[in-house]
Amino acid sequence: MVEYYTDGSLKPSTPTTMGKQDPNLVYTDMGAAFCVNNEPALSAQANISLWPSSIRSELVAIFLALLTGPMNAKIKIYTDSQSAIYMINNQYNKSGRKLLKQSNSLILLKIDILLQEKKMDLVLVKVKGHSGDVMNEIVDDLAKNTSNSRCYFNNRFNYSNRTIRFFPIFKQIPIEYNLRKFIKTLMNTRVAAEWSMLKTNGHEIPIAWNITWNLIHRYKGFNCISVKKHWHLIFIIKLFAKLLPIGATLIQRKPNIYKDFVCPRYNDNKEEDIYHFIECDANKDLWPIIKNRMQDDVIHIIQKWSNMEKNTPKAIREKLKQILGSQYDNNKFIDFCLLALEAKINTNLSKVSKQLFGFLESKNILFLASLLDSFIIHFKELIWLPRCNATIAWEKDRNIERKDKLNKSEYMDRYLKFCHQQGKQSRQDKHSAKKNDLPISQKDQTVVLDDIIFELDTVQSENSMNENFILSKCYRMGKKAHDQMCLLISNNWWYSWAYKKTKNIIDNVIADLIIT
Ligand SMILES: [Zn+2]
Repeated sequence: MVEYYTDGSLKPSTPTTMGKQDPNLVYTDMGAAFCVNNEPALSAQANISLWPSSIRSELVAIFLALLTGPMNAKIKIYTDSQSAIYMINNQYNKSGRKLLKQSNSLILLKIDILLQEKKMDLVLVKVKGHSGDVMNEIVDDLAKNTSNSRCYFNNRFNYSNRTIRFFPIFKQIPIEYNLRKFIKTLMNTRVAAEWSMLKTNGHEIPIAWNITWNLIHRYKGFNCISVKKHWHLIFIIKLFAKLLPIGATLIQRKPNIYKDFVCPRYNDNKEEDIYHFIECDANKDLWPIIKNRMQDDVIHIIQKWSNMEKNTPKAIREKLKQILGSQYDNNKFIDFCLLALEAKINTNLSKVSKQLFGFLESKNILFLASLLDSFIIHFKELIWLPRCNATIAWEKDRNIERKDKLNKSEYMDRYLKFCHQQGKQSRQDKHSAKKNDLPISQKDQTVVLDDIIFELDTVQSENSMNENFILSKCYRMGKKAHDQMCLLISNNWWYSWAYKKTKNIIDNVIADLIIT
């Protein structure tokens, strides 16, 4: 009978310099150690990397201990990880398919093979961590201080058995994660990388995407429990995708009907773009109300999570001014609104609020998502709905009916033709329209879906230039997705543009990057 104590450690790191991470580096420290019972000198420790989790380090520690165990022996291992015990005890008679479905599959497989081939009889015993067990303290210390050790446990697929003859790898790294989920993540990341490089996302201001994801998640899927919430989600998505039928969009979509559509609520005869909602005189008295309501909505959230000493509503209002500005016509508030009308929040603002109220990263995201939600709710109620009623009245005056607003296929034909033939010209038109100070929409109805415009009738040299442009874009996109996958495997980090499953936001460190 041989008795061991094993322990693992995991020190997750937060990026210190945002936006400067090297995707090829491992920032997370993991260590594993074991020690023979009552023989502190008979011990070993090792550094581990990739797929960071505390259970992984515990499993590696157990595996290392088993490597030293004699054949046909009874082995007793003391560990403080209940989940490691559970996982090892549930390995017997699992099919290869089932084995590959779990996390840390390769290390579990190796433990299983080792036990079978050495014919060892393993008993796992749970010890309470930090309960004064001397041996446990020793091994705990060893696992936490592996940085001085030059030993490195490299988990490669170097031996197999009948159940598993091959192992999936990504860039030479065994995929020790549910394979189906991994492939799904890989595909989603590529799609997200492509999306993040669209022109419409090319903000000069860095966006804290995770706040937007959190807001959308609140009303999505199983969280969408009422028709009201459903419509609210649609409204948020329309804001996000800039699809709200505001005047500028209506003129673009249906030029013949809406060619003389101007702000329907105030006699200012101005084109209704998104900025007009802020400057329109009809909203002059409404913005202060929205601002006040937003403050009222978030005060209790701040009181709950903030570490402020004096958290009276008055003190909080004073601090909120640094985020929302002191007045509704203050630049701070206008900047907030302009981004919030796209369901987005500036990264700098999120830094300010984190510092201002002393929030944890995860709470800060939840707080700002609530602030954004509050803004959208009140904007919709006080400004958007009256505006829609005014638009309906405007349409009624001109006898515009529902059937006039529906899409006809001829529009699609025209649109497609336009895309192919006039992509180039439209850009020139846009340019000259700007020069002449004419609204673009009056000059020509331009719809540009993305940056890549195929120009069919151009000369050869220009064609190959386009090809190069597309290829380089493809390459940059692949690189971006690849970097994200590396950061995920080695550090469990997500760039916020890629991170859409905000449900687990608290378990993951999110590295914010400026989108390039
Ligand atoms: Zn107006």
